[in-house]
Amino acid sequence: MVLKFYNSLTNKLEEFKPVHKGKVTMYNCGPTVYSYAHIGNFRSYIFADLIRRYLEFKGYEVTQVVNITDVGHLTDDGDDGEDKMEKAAKKEKKHPLEIAEFFTKQFLEDWNTLNMEEPEFRPKATETVSEIIALTQELIKNGHAYESEGNIYFDISSFPEYGKLSGNKLENLTQSRVESDAAKKNKHDFVLWFSNSKFKNHILKWDSPWGEGYPGWHMECSCMSAKFLTPAFQDGKFDPEKFETIDIHTGGEDNKFPHHECEIAQTQGAVDKPYVHYWMHAKHLLSEGEKMSKSLGNVYLVFDLVKEGFSPRAIRYLLISGHYRLPLNFTKDGLSAAAKSLDRIDNLLIALYAIDEEKDGNEQAATIISELKLTVEKEMDNDLNVSGALGALFEAVRELNKVLDKIGKTQAQSFIGEFFSLDKIFGIMDKLVLDTELIPEEIMDLVQEREIARSNKDWSVSDELRDEIKAQGYEVKDTPNGPQVKKL
Ligand SMILES: [Zn+2]
Repeated sequence: MVLKFYNSLTNKLEEFKPVHKGKVTMYNCGPTVYSYAHIGNFRSYIFADLIRRYLEFKGYEVTQVVNITDVGHLTDDGDDGEDKMEKAAKKEKKHPLEIAEFFTKQFLEDWNTLNMEEPEFRPKATETVSEIIALTQELIKNGHAYESEGNIYFDISSFPEYGKLSGNKLENLTQSRVESDAAKKNKHDFVLWFSNSKFKNHILKWDSPWGEGYPGWHMECSCMSAKFLTPAFQDGKFDPEKFETIDIHTGGEDNKFPHHECEIAQTQGAVDKPYVHYWMHAKHLLSEGEKMSKSLGNVYLVFDLVKEGFSPRAIRYLLISGHYRLPLNFTKDGLSAAAKSLDRIDNLLIALYAIDEEKDGNEQAATIISELKLTVEKEMDNDLNVSGALGALFEAVRELNKVLDKIGKTQAQSFIGEFFSLDKIFGIMDKLVLDTELIPEEIMDLVQEREIARSNKDWSVSDELRDEIKAQGYEVKDTPNGPQVKKL
């Protein structure tokens, strides 16, 4: 089977081939931590998590970067807005880094609540300033950037490909809301480094060859992706020869322009290779059928929904359930329906756990599982058609329920293993059935790993895992209702 992704750069479904065999580099534009990330933001992050999980399921080793924007993201697309971080800080009468710390903490809690895998790197813009300065110097050297009234601008007329990703041809951009600025050569030139005296009151600022200042938003993503996913930066110095094309870059569809367009211009202005191979963008989320807005009260936050009693699994399930390139309507009714769907999986797994009687393997049941595996992979290979894959999962649940009385203990245990193994993709069944109360997650992960080993009759691994669990102070007992974990 061939994995295909829809590439926003070419507007085509393309076979996925990473630069290095078996390895994938992926960059996901992360949050600007001046306020809470809402479920709409999380649709885009969970989409990236789904890509990661599926690539891992296919056997790739993934290196993922999700940045934290804590300086330089302005309140509008032009360069006249206020820094979102500084604005929030002023309002709260706090330092911007205090604001950043507070919202980063909540963001990471929500991330964990939604059972998203941890990326390898979570860099902050404020920790990437030396790289940003180095790349800016390279762009000035190459004739793509210029200094004007203290700021450093990217000259978009020096980069004819500008507009390719978003389909915004330069001549069409005249309609946009960005104001002309006498300091710029072209109306859509964007700031790489702010050190104009107008910004002297900015709290976060750094020394640079152009005076004290701070970076433009787009620069951090060009720099962090190159710094953590390629060998181009060494000790803050940039070597364009060492840059390697990044396999996947994602974001919400609103990131395409100007943000990703500017990232492409910056990186490709400095290196002689494509910046990113596969650009992937998630569609906007509607909430209760409408665009999210404070006045409509439909800007839902993950931790609020959990406080209201919705299960994190249901939130995750609803957010991944629609294809990422289609609009998704997130509603509280939808969350209740998601919880009911998950109950159907839970009930089947509980029933399988409860099977204690040994029987010959049932061929019909085995076929349901093998077809399920094939269909899930076929659907996910097709640009992550998760709705098709989940449809197959529920179909298998329905069919297995019809033949439950023909399934014996060994076969039931192996099916449980198969379900958990498919759940590496979805992340909706984790820790199911098992008594999770007060048992730390790392222990539950070991218990789950042991269940898979047991279902594969890999008794030596299963025993090793039991010992490891014991060494960490917990005991696992196998009961007809599945494993029971206890603190020793
Ligand atoms: Zn970004």
